[in-house]
This record gives sequence, C-alpha cells and structure tokens, in this order.
Amino acid sequence: MTTRAHSAPLFVLLMILAASCPTQSQAITPPSKLSVHWEELTAADFREGIRRSQGTCLLPFGILEKHGPHLPLGTDLLDVRYAALHAAEQEYAVVFPEYYFGQIAEARHEPGTVAYSREMQLALLQETTDEMARNGCKKVIIVNGHGGNEHLLPFFAQSQLDKPHDYVVYVFDRRSPETGGPPKKTTIDMHAGESETSKMMISRPDTVHIDRANTESGADQNRQNLPEDVYTGIWWYARFPNHYSGDGSAATKELGKFQMDWWIDAVAKSIRAIKADDVSLKLQNEFYEKSKHPLDTKP
Ligand SMILES: [Zn+2]
Repeated sequence: MTTRAHSAPLFVLLMILAASCPTQSQAITPPSKLSVHWEELTAADFREGIRRSQGTCLLPFGILEKHGPHLPLGTDLLDVRYAALHAAEQEYAVVFPEYYFGQIAEARHEPGTVAYSREMQLALLQETTDEMARNGCKKVIIVNGHGGNEHLLPFFAQSQLDKPHDYVVYVFDRRSPETGGPPKKTTIDMHAGESETSKMMISRPDTVHIDRANTESGADQNRQNLPEDVYTGIWWYARFPNHYSGDGSAATKELGKFQMDWWIDAVAKSIRAIKADDVSLKLQNEFYEKSKHPLDTKP
C-alpha cells in the first residue's frame, strides 16, 4: 500500500519529464522533401533517404576527356548527372557525388584527360559500390554517361559473381533514344556531335562554345583497314584522333530537350523497375551458395 501510494506521483512526474524532454531522435522529423544529393543530406536525413529509396542509389558515371573544340572536359559527367538527378526527383533515389574515374586510355594524348590505370578503375569502383552498400544501398544503379565505359561496366557487373555481395549492381547504359524527336541533320554523331552538343545546351548551356564547333573536323578518318568484327584498342584513335565525331554546329535546343527528357524518363523507369525487383538478389544468393559446391549442381 505504502509503496503504491508513493510510486503513483513518481510515475506521473516521470511521464511529465518524458513529455517535456523528448530524446534527440524523437525531436528530429525528416523533411517531407528530401534532397536526392547524397552530399546534401544530414546523417539522419540520409537514413530516411535510404528508407524512402528502398535502398536504391544511383552512381552517375562520367569522365574527364576532350569533347571536340567546343564542349567542356566534363561533358559526360555534367550530362549524366543532369539526367540522373532529375530522374531521382521523379522516382526518389539517393545520388552519389561526382564520379569520373572511368576508362579513357584512348584520350591520353589530349589536354585535361584523367586516365586511371585499369587496376585503379576496378578497385575504386568496387570499393565505392561496397561502401554504398555498407550504407544501405542494396541496389546500386550505375548510370553511364561515357562511351569508353561500355566494356568496363558489364565486366564489372559480371565480376560481382566472383564472391558473395549483399547487394546488386545494375548498369543503365543508354544516352539517346534510337528513334523519334526532331530529325537529325548529321549521320556521324558519336562524340561532341549533334546529339551530345544538343544535350549540353539543356544541362549546361553556359559551357557550350557553339561558335568553335567548326574549328576542327569531326569526320571519320577511317585509318584502319580491318573487318568490322575485328576489335583493337586503337580503333577510336584510328577513326577520331581529335576526340570529335560528328558536327556539333548542327545542335539545337529542341533536339537536346527531346533527348534529355527521354534520358530522364528512361532512368526514372529503370529506378521504378529496380525498386520492384525482388528476384536478382535472391538468385545471386542462390548462385553464390551453389558455386561453393558445383558438383552438386544437377540439371
Ligand atoms: Zn561524351
């Protein structure tokens, strides 16, 4: 009786104290609109970002490389980040900061190229996706902005099967639609040409020097005489040694808007599909388990 008589006011006092002194975690309410930029989130908001994105994160992948006489070295990263950030605004995902540590050996003779060794490229990419996953990004979507990464990225994704990972690497590697939009004026259009210059007119028009687009030739020099299905590492230098393929002066804002809108939409669709993908990680885990004892695998 005596104990109960004393404990009741104490209990009330504790309740009042608890109500008036909320713990720090109770005091933080995540904002309704979160930034999609990894580096702009507070630590607490990052936790909320990972929850909201269902562990889906984008790694826009660019390069530092000459882009004709009229576009900046960072063109691929500027364009791909524009597409990825706008896609993540449509379908929430956390977007990793600037990453331009890809394959560009073929431009080492041009000013401003940063070409890491293949060992460094693979090690840095692995550690980056590992660190993303350790922070909750169990679905890492590499959004490629640079043609020179087109072999590196599928190889990297396949090498994830070497040993168990608790996350899946997805690669999105398209930058333009195959058809549709304003008719194009040029036929060769691979690098700093009509399409890429048009997209830069949308993402970073202040960096486009259209008046310089005709000061160099972007024609195909076609200096190798080999069948189409024979590959050499020097093929790009043989055809486009000036890192210009096409004619940037043909660019228009209309084409840029059409292609950029397509790109943003295509990345947003992929984010949606990848969020809904509950198969890949399960199959990966099944595969890792089976690969420990291949003799037990039966058809
Ligand atoms: Zn480019």
